Amino acid sequence: MPLSAAFTARRKAFRAAVLRFYRRHKRDLPWRRTRDPYRILVSEIMLQQTQVDRVIPRYEAFLARFPTLGALARVRCADVVRAWLGLGYNGRAVRLWQCARHVHAEHRGVLPRELQQLQRLPGVGPYTASAVAAIAFGAPVAAVDVNVGRVLSRVFAGRDDLATARVHALAHAVVPPRAAGEWAQALMDLGARYCRARPRCAECPVRTMCAYTHRYRSAIQRGRKGAASDRFHGSNRYYRGRIVRVLSTDVDLTVRALGRKVKDGFALSDVPWLLELLRGLARDGLVRVLRDRVRLA
Ligand code: SF4
Repeated sequence: MPLSAAFTARRKAFRAAVLRFYRRHKRDLPWRRTRDPYRILVSEIMLQQTQVDRVIPRYEAFLARFPTLGALARVRCADVVRAWLGLGYNGRAVRLWQCARHVHAEHRGVLPRELQQLQRLPGVGPYTASAVAAIAFGAPVAAVDVNVGRVLSRVFAGRDDLATARVHALAHAVVPPRAAGEWAQALMDLGARYCRARPRCAECPVRTMCAYTHRYRSAIQRGRKGAASDRFHGSNRYYRGRIVRVLSTDVDLTVRALGRKVKDGFALSDVPWLLELLRGLARDGLVRVLRDRVRLA
């Protein structure tokens, strides 16, 4: 579909403002000093649902331990999970290891360049595949996660709840073909710094062309309440993390002994709940339950 002259002019101004902001203020992050596809893949998987400041030291330690995809593919899954502990969402470690094994076996240890092939790798979702294709290989594709989607929805539609298909169409229409990698990281920085759930429009470098700030100026000034920072404490996700952490040191425990270590006041009536968590962890490839004994996979 041909783009309107108004959209083309707005896109040009938006691209220029975003790239200008990024080139002046980009964060110096370790994965921005490399084009190594494996290192970029590791960073993208670590950054899913984990904040940058927590990722940096773990990223460097992980790569010191597994400096290449081949090094990662040659170790046991449990070694990778142990190296991952502290980042949370430990299933990501299993998926990264499975991906490394697959690439080692099927692609001679070299990550493929084409987006479609990246998308077919185990554990690599559409966002990660696009980010690796754009950042490592310079492919003219858009990497769209929740934060990037929020920026684009607000700037071009003046709202937060644009349908996913429209967000993706917008993302593909605005990506600069010759700077897709830089663009992906620039939009991430813009979202992280200004266009959060509670946006900081007054300081944002694209405020003059943003539909959201024009439509919702008064609502933005009032602000919204942030989410509670410890909302995961005591949730099943919290206990899944504790289980994996305990099993990384106590390598083989009975179900009840494990329960006593992960939950204060653990009682017999908690056994079905614990078994349900263990079944989920086993499905994700993180633990193995043999009769009454539990260990890391
Ligand atoms: S002006 Fe506000 S709503 Fe628009 S992109 Fe910037 S922070 Fe987001």
